[in-house]
Amino acid sequence: MDTLWSLPDFDGHEAVHIVTDEPTGLKAVIAMHSTHLGPAAGGTRFWHYANHADAVTDALRLSRGMSYKNAMAGLPLGGGKTVILADENKTKTPEMIAAFARAVDRLGGNYVTAEDVGMTVEDMIAISEHTDYVAGLPVEDGAEVGGDPGPHTALGVFLGLKAAVKRKLGKDNLDGLHIAIQGAGSVASHLARHCADEDARLSIADVATDRVEALAAETGATIVDPADILFIEADVVSPCALGAILTEDSIAKLNTGIIAGAANNQLATRDDGKRLQARDILYCPDYVINAGGIINVSTEYLKDGGADLVRQRIEAIPTRLDQIWDESEASGRDPAAVADAMAQRLIGRG
Ligand code: NAD
Repeated sequence: MDTLWSLPDFDGHEAVHIVTDEPTGLKAVIAMHSTHLGPAAGGTRFWHYANHADAVTDALRLSRGMSYKNAMAGLPLGGGKTVILADENKTKTPEMIAAFARAVDRLGGNYVTAEDVGMTVEDMIAISEHTDYVAGLPVEDGAEVGGDPGPHTALGVFLGLKAAVKRKLGKDNLDGLHIAIQGAGSVASHLARHCADEDARLSIADVATDRVEALAAETGATIVDPADILFIEADVVSPCALGAILTEDSIAKLNTGIIAGAANNQLATRDDGKRLQARDILYCPDYVINAGGIINVSTEYLKDGGADLVRQRIEAIPTRLDQIWDESEASGRDPAAVADAMAQRLIGRG
């Protein structure tokens, strides 16, 4: 019989809680990958899975990802994640959310939850009525930290992108450089504004035409067909829309020397990190460069500082990237593999 410990995605997880509340129909998996650096922090996903094994696998994989992300962002937090197993209609009741919140509370702060796919800010507010161990609650207008993560993520991506430009092209600013941005959503918009302020030449693409037109009008960017944006000739390509866009096929067609974007899980497989390296394309590991949002929300939860600390932590992103690229050059391993190894060391493993 397969056990949890023999699953391919089991990675020394400290605890995996299988939560059941029969009266409300709640079924959830709370995976705590590591509490080495602090409470296991990571959002709750509400999703219909084909089977229980897929739900457990998702919780194992995502919680490990949170350990790595929080560690590399220099946060005093470990990594965890919850998946709530929704039925086919994704029925979510207040009673079910309350039962889930009580389960989080029983873990005594060793796990801290937040919003993820399928959950809303309203759900987080409801959870906060039963437990203090929830982050990402709405903040008052003008609050120093917390609130919309997009601008903070974009600032981290912008600073990381500039670090990549400095390393690859030896330039201290983006003046005249061509930046191709996939997406015109929350992060992409703020990123495009930062780049336009430094007189970069922008190309942008989004399947939502109204959004891309508005952003182009504001920043002077050229609109590109979404099918072409990754492959146009550009100094930097910044994926800020979808995951798994860097594949054997797409990497072969890239016309850039730098990939620096916000999207999660950009590499379709681990080999794609090596493929980028083989083509001499400098890669900014996604969970390192896109940590600005989590830095902001965590600083609000931890109450360990204000806007200055958020800024300081985001400004450490380029330093972290430089460490990764230095180690990559020294070891010959690709930056994504180096980032994982570095994260493992930070959480006392590896
Ligand atoms: P968003 O939903 O605001 O924007 C995403 C945009 O991508 C949308 O405008 C959508 O129309 C567009 N899009 C979808 N398919 C596309 C395609 N094929 N080609 C071009 N555009 C396409 O999301 P966001 O908050 O800006 O996040 C962007 C990415 O960054 C996501 O992958 C997200 O997971 C990741 N991320 C975001 C944050 C954050 O703070 N918001 C933090 C970390 C990672």
